[in-house]
Amino acid sequence: MVSAQSNQFICGRPIDECLQIIERFHGWQAPGLVLGLFMVDLARELIGSGTEADAVVETRHCLPDAVQLFTPCTIGNGWMKILDWDKFALAFYDRRTRCGYRVWVDLEKMRHFPKLFNWFMRLIPKKELPLEELLDVIIAAGRQVLSSNPITISRYCDRLKKTEVNVCPVCSEAFAAKQGAICMTCQGKGYYDLCNPKVNRASVVFK
Ligand SMILES: [Zn+2]
Repeated sequence: MVSAQSNQFICGRPIDECLQIIERFHGWQAPGLVLGLFMVDLARELIGSGTEADAVVETRHCLPDAVQLFTPCTIGNGWMKILDWDKFALAFYDRRTRCGYRVWVDLEKMRHFPKLFNWFMRLIPKKELPLEELLDVIIAAGRQVLSSNPITISRYCDRLKKTEVNVCPVCSEAFAAKQGAICMTCQGKGYYDLCNPKVNRASVVFK
């Protein structure tokens, strides 16, 4: 268990409880997710607890899980969008006013925590910095490595709604009508090959 400042409250909970939540969900106390916890905490505080905020996350790695765990925004409910830019940054904004805050890892600030900087920039092999030590540094640094700015969202602010549905005449599955008359897979643009093409819908016996 991490010893540093274990009485700290993050996202409304003691840090130890946050770490347990992270481990249960993510499988382990991933340092990126712990860093993300502090980013979510800061962004939440900036936008205020009274605002029902949507989120944009600028990397697919770790950070989306921090948002899903400690805010009501998830991929599934459409309140969080992920941009595959590999920037360790996120924005929370009010969906009605489009005003919000962006929080990012500030490299100039992180330089004051050399171990953290070296890990973040992948300048040292993983085994040179044990997880416990890295987590202690992340927790000790907290917000000191982050910067924030008020923003107005100009793109990616529409919630994606489900559109019309067609039934594919080839596979009989429902799919988004905007893809055409037959589904992507049956158009030959699928992502898999059948291991046993003889097992098809017609031969399945329902008991
Ligand atoms: Zn089909």
